[in-house]
Amino acid sequence: MTETAKLLIHGASGRMGQALLRLCAEGGNCTVVGAVSRKVGQRVIDGVPQFASNELAGVPAFDAAVDFSLAEAFDPILALCAERGAALVSGTTGLSEAQRAAIAEASARIPVLWAANFSLGVAVLSELVERAAAALPGWDCDIVEAHHAGKKDAPSGTALALGEAAGQGGALARYASLRAGDIVGEHLIQFAGIGERIELVHRATNRDIFARGALHAAGRLSGRAPGVYRLRDLL
Ligand code: NAD
Repeated sequence: MTETAKLLIHGASGRMGQALLRLCAEGGNCTVVGAVSRKVGQRVIDGVPQFASNELAGVPAFDAAVDFSLAEAFDPILALCAERGAALVSGTTGLSEAQRAAIAEASARIPVLWAANFSLGVAVLSELVERAAAALPGWDCDIVEAHHAGKKDAPSGTALALGEAAGQGGALARYASLRAGDIVGEHLIQFAGIGERIELVHRATNRDIFARGALHAAGRLSGRAPGVYRLRDLL
């Protein structure tokens, strides 16, 4: 682990990228050496060198890339980290099976952490869902998620991860998605039996919870041995 990790922010002009840059500028334990967006000139924080997605070869040395972009932008940043021997922390959702296989392959050379959700609340919720599923065999399990109108993938990566947690407890989750307004992220997990039901809900009201978690993980992952890491390994 390095004391002050040199970070490359990938997806810098986006909602999450802007939160990451602001938190680093406000005194997070990190130095941003570059900000990558689809095009240079999109919104970034003053003083941070900007790069377009077709200029990745020219970015300076970095300890870890923090990627919150789009699935279609993921392959080049994974390849760059593998080539440079740098860590990758990614929260980009909607990745394909082939992209997940590429993460496993790259993890032979670099430390990689991909997480569907970087909030502490969702980490706890995931454990509750698994316990509830195990304790309620035969109950219906439904996950309803809501996000802002601009979100491209559905169901959300978090909903799918919560569905996996339910699966660990023996339930088969079904999904419903809402895309509306500026909702940061809401997940409701309903367990319905005969004559009763349980609802577990998480509401994110501020993207900083994800950005803080990702920056913390990037600092802890930098300089580690190659491999696939989980968020809980770095808390
Ligand atoms: P956004 O649409 O606001 O931003 C997307 C960013 O990707 C922009 O900076 C854009 O310039 C960049 N981009 C697009 N094409 C690119 C390319 N080819 N190369 C490089 N950059 C490119 O999205 P957002 O709301 O910031 O979310 C980004 C991702 O993070 C989504 O997949 C979202 O689901 C995910 N997310 C994950 C978590 C989590 O905790 N894991 C939390 C919030 C969002």
